[in-house]
Amino acid sequence: MSQEQKAVERARKAFRTGRTKPLEYRITQLKNLQRLFVERQKEIADALKKDLNKSEFGTPLYETLGLEGEISMAISKLAEWAMPRPVTKNLLTISDQVYIQPEPLGVVLIIGAWNYPWAVTIQPLIGAIAAGNAVVIKPSEVCVHTSKVMETLLPLYIDKEMFPVVTGGVAETQELLKQRFDHIFYTGNCAVGKLIMEAGAKHLTPVTLELGGKSPCYIDKNCDISIACRRIAWGKYTNCGQTCIAPDYILCDPSIQDRVIEEIKKNVKDFYTEDPKSCTDYGRIINQRHFKRVMTLMEDSVVAIGGENDESECYIAPTVLRDVKPEAKVMQEEIFGPLLPILSVGSVDEAIDFINQREKPLALYVFSSDNKLIKRMISETSSGGVLANDCLVHFSVSSLPFGGVGNSGMGCYHGKFTFDQLSHLRGCLIKQLKMEGVNNMRYPPHTAKKLDWARFFILKQVEMGKLARMAVMALLVVAAAVMIQVKKKTSEMIMTHGQSVIDNINTND
Ligand code: NAD
Repeated sequence: MSQEQKAVERARKAFRTGRTKPLEYRITQLKNLQRLFVERQKEIADALKKDLNKSEFGTPLYETLGLEGEISMAISKLAEWAMPRPVTKNLLTISDQVYIQPEPLGVVLIIGAWNYPWAVTIQPLIGAIAAGNAVVIKPSEVCVHTSKVMETLLPLYIDKEMFPVVTGGVAETQELLKQRFDHIFYTGNCAVGKLIMEAGAKHLTPVTLELGGKSPCYIDKNCDISIACRRIAWGKYTNCGQTCIAPDYILCDPSIQDRVIEEIKKNVKDFYTEDPKSCTDYGRIINQRHFKRVMTLMEDSVVAIGGENDESECYIAPTVLRDVKPEAKVMQEEIFGPLLPILSVGSVDEAIDFINQREKPLALYVFSSDNKLIKRMISETSSGGVLANDCLVHFSVSSLPFGGVGNSGMGCYHGKFTFDQLSHLRGCLIKQLKMEGVNNMRYPPHTAKKLDWARFFILKQVEMGKLARMAVMALLVVAAAVMIQVKKKTSEMIMTHGQSVIDNINTND
């Protein structure tokens, strides 16, 4: 039996003990995970420095602070997320219990990528633990040092039977994929995404695919170009462009291209000094294979800023490419590096057509002061997420689902969405044994009438709030009717008996 198979069997055996069912167990695991990030910052940061030249501030900012926030949220919201969720009833179920009960799926496989290795591997883990699953964790082998740190640290903090870490390369991942899981959560490129789905299909295992693609960035003439370029420069060159939601390319009117280039240049200097190579905040390309790939993408385009590089250090300067044609090499695949091509479009219609002629991206960025234009871009295009007038920050909003659509992925996560993605939302209906009389009820004889009755009972949705309001209305109507009746009766009595009372009084006198 392979190591991978053993790890999966151990996790399944642990899951079958049922110890993930009580919420206290899940909360303890989450608290332990939180402790890891407080106590082991140095080991985490050192490894990321070696893997991607991440800076002292970059590590908490882009990797661990968000995770700590997600853990705190899961701990505080878990009882609410896990409780039965009442649903709308119809007249046939009005006196029954009808609700959704989230339940654990079983053993989940999480396969991480290397660019933000903690964020993309641990964030789904948080939701998986909260949802009560066992998890086999497979960090990316490409971030060599971080993968080792994860393998060493995670078992010291969380239940190592329930949450084993499996390291290794493609062969080990493929061996894992032969095993049966209850869900596979994969972050990485589209080509491997297809292999993951194929492997899942063999066991009818559902998959979440967090993929990438080319995220467009449209700059409208009617916007504050200097603010737009500052935010774009930050979003593009953070982590040396190796961010799944980095703006991949700019679309703008040719009349503003020079201004955009000037502004980006100014901000690159501001963020990374005149010499980004010696700036501690500027990252490196993960390895030589990716370095060569990114350099090739530049070949048939005109460099407007940057372009300097050093293979021995996997360094490529923050670069802008001007007057780029759609046929250029840099436009044929996700760049995933610090190259920012600018393409000309004559109007917003042309920008929308350009976007819609390509695969649906993971993110779409629009910079404009015109709210109507932003809304039009949203309604006439499709993408995993959309962010107007900033870059990347939608990733940090836990109340928004994060994920792709079409070629950029399937399924979503963050906050409660992760919990739901990795739970089975079980529909529960508990009927009463009373009310058998309803089943014996005689319907009107005509067939059409019978159908009307059935339609009424099945389709009539009953909200308890609405029902209560209807009951009060009905009571008021009954009360009003009674009052009218009483009033009517009193005046009748006066009419019939009034004269005899008067006569009586007169007689007595
Ligand atoms: P990678 O090379 O680390 O691969 C990811 C995982 O897939 C690794 O664990 C690896 O072992 C496994 N793998 C690689 N080849 C395999 C094969 N042939 N069979 C089975 N498993 C295999 O990461 P990557 O794909 O280079 O990551 C970069 C991509 O990930 C980019 O496209 C980026 O946009 C995307 N990404 C997406 C998100 C998101 O949240 N949507 C986040 C980060 C990265």
